[in-house]
Amino acid sequence: MRHKMPWVDRLKCDVAEVGESCKAAKHCPHAAFTVTWKPGDENGQYDILIDLERCRRCGECSHACDKFAVKMV
Ligand code: SF4
Repeated sequence: MRHKMPWVDRLKCDVAEVGESCKAAKHCPHAAFTVTWKPGDENGQYDILIDLERCRRCGECSHACDKFAVKMV
């Protein structure tokens, strides 16, 4: 059986504003869901990175996101 993986709906995700306060990242027990700073030409912004090698498909990130932006698909 194929296990579901986290997927982020970028239209709902507000990581660009909340940055390292992202609840999904804070609640990932395997440090697979992380917030990274991406430098830009003029301004940088926060983005998320999901390391699928570390991810255990537990769904904690999906439960933790209060914007309902993280889905297990
Ligand atoms: S499914 Fe679990 S291990 Fe994978 S990114 Fe989400 S919280 Fe982390």
